Amino acid sequence: MPADPVAKWEEFLRSRYWDDILKLADSYPDERSLKIQFSDLEKFDPDFAEELMENPDETIEAARTAILELDLPMDVYLDRAHVRIVELPRNFKTRELRSDHIGKLLAIDGLVRTATEVRPKIVSAAFQCQRCGFTFFKEQTGNKFEDQNLKCMNQACDRGGPFKLLLAQSKFVDAQKIRVQESPEDLRGGQQPQTLDVELEDDLAGRIFPGDRVIVNGVLKSYQRTNPQQGKSTYFDLFHKGVSVEMKDQEFEEIDISAEDEEAIMEMSRDPEIYEKIKDSIAPSIYGYDDVKEALGLQLVSGFEKHLPDGARIRGDIHILLVGDPGIAKSQLLRYMVKLSPRGIYTSGKSSTSAGLTATAVKDELGDGRWTIEAGALVLADKGIAAIDEMDKMNNEDKSALHEAMEQQTISVAKAGVMATLKSRCSLLAAANPKLGRFDKYEPIAPQINLTPALMSRFDLIFVLTDDPDTKRDSAIAEHILKSNYAGELSTQKPWNPEISQEDIDNALTVIEPAIDPEMLRKYVAYARKNVFPTLTEEAKEFFLNYYVGLRTQGQDSNKPVPVTARQLEALIRLGEASARLRLSREVTGVDAQRVVKILEACLRKVGVD
Ligand code: ADP
Ligand code: MG
Repeated sequence: MPADPVAKWEEFLRSRYWDDILKLADSYPDERSLKIQFSDLEKFDPDFAEELMENPDETIEAARTAILELDLPMDVYLDRAHVRIVELPRNFKTRELRSDHIGKLLAIDGLVRTATEVRPKIVSAAFQCQRCGFTFFKEQTGNKFEDQNLKCMNQACDRGGPFKLLLAQSKFVDAQKIRVQESPEDLRGGQQPQTLDVELEDDLAGRIFPGDRVIVNGVLKSYQRTNPQQGKSTYFDLFHKGVSVEMKDQEFEEIDISAEDEEAIMEMSRDPEIYEKIKDSIAPSIYGYDDVKEALGLQLVSGFEKHLPDGARIRGDIHILLVGDPGIAKSQLLRYMVKLSPRGIYTSGKSSTSAGLTATAVKDELGDGRWTIEAGALVLADKGIAAIDEMDKMNNEDKSALHEAMEQQTISVAKAGVMATLKSRCSLLAAANPKLGRFDKYEPIAPQINLTPALMSRFDLIFVLTDDPDTKRDSAIAEHILKSNYAGELSTQKPWNPEISQEDIDNALTVIEPAIDPEMLRKYVAYARKNVFPTLTEEAKEFFLNYYVGLRTQGQDSNKPVPVTARQLEALIRLGEASARLRLSREVTGVDAQRVVKILEACLRKVGVD
């Protein structure tokens, strides 16, 4: 500790944060947080910054004292102001935390899985002595309420009670607990995400929702586990006492695109083969499925959201369903798409957690018996792609919640007085197996899919993939798989087998090397989503209209498994926009219209709307 940390803070605040302090004083007490960049403190005095990391509780307390001692030109007393340190040099994952980190200031990176309701927490309890009537305060710093061994502060009385807690005179802050889970993109194959509970107080509470991506800067604390039978345990658990929260919006739009990147993107968009190339860059290790991959390319950019003057909103995200025989690479396609999307979440309908796919309110230990809202996959994938494998196996509750999630793109939780609406603005990519395991090709397809028409009609595109033996195709797939395995084998062996050169690997990789590398594709997609909002040309409108009216007329006279509704028209518009976006065009042309009608037509024909 420097000799006088309060003086150190005063010097720092005066020289570097004076304007911020004046601003805070101006809007106080509505605003109560003074944000301090860690790097500013580090530039000011590296040792003091180090001290802050090592002894955060004392150092931050000193900062609060310093704020109170500043001579402000206005008449405010900033006693409820907080120092919120942001942008620490390093972000930790939950799994990296060790006992050495206890008591230190750390940044934890993750995804908010659950959040309790905001409730008052007592920080200063007013006790009234029932003998002499004197009222005194007892600060409540920990999580356990301290009302034992009190003594009346009236020196003339000095008795040990009884005392009455005066709620009106006591001081409370808003408090909330959240549970942060490691982001899926930080997990290596098969790892289970670990979680850390975080306590947020005062103006930090109530601003975070399940599904948010955050960096929580805080002081890591431990508490002793107890067990009703054995009492106190020697094992401790960790929690994080929040100092500040940074929102991290890693969505497509937020990817950094440099000037050179932008040039490369423009160049790519002028390539007449861009559709081919994007298609070939999606899951290159999977052979075939050109039509599916083309649609997945459209899904990456999707259409864009529209707000109608009457308040209604039309989603832009494209939902795709793949139904097909087992073992034909559906799961592989899903996993690949999740990797391509910065906010991709992969989940299986079978192995849903208690929050399932959507969200739920649970009463668990995080909330000390309070209700907690827990986000499921579709909330966690907000603004990304949610891949649901084995969708046919999910429970009925999830199935019905999906209706809202897919159309309104919100998820409502209403349970035991907890009401919340969470956002789920994601594209859904789902896979399902036929009801009986395999398609019977002599029977109509639709009844063999274990999903309701209402659910099916919410998908923009449904691909039916059957595994029919076809010697030419089979041997092509076999060759493709053998080659990709060989390339994988070479690169696994390379570290210990000096005979294998990079050139061998590169040669072997040619079959599965994507035309556009994933990093660049992600940038391209991000650029398109951020900057391109195409409008329909007259030609495209007319094409869609004619096609749609034709569909409706055909649809009238027979019992269609997937009803033709206005949804298909909206789907066409979305797909058309996506098609224009893929070449960064401001216009959806007749060619775009034809391209997407062809894709939709192929899907409908297979499902049985013809
Ligand atoms: P599904 O989810 O449809 O049951 P999987 O995605 O689990 O099937 O695929 C099973 C395996 O077969 C995977 O390892 C996949 O790579 C391989 N496979 C199936 N079809 C193809 C294909 N067309 N090209 C390359 N690999 C394939
Ligand atoms: Mg599968």
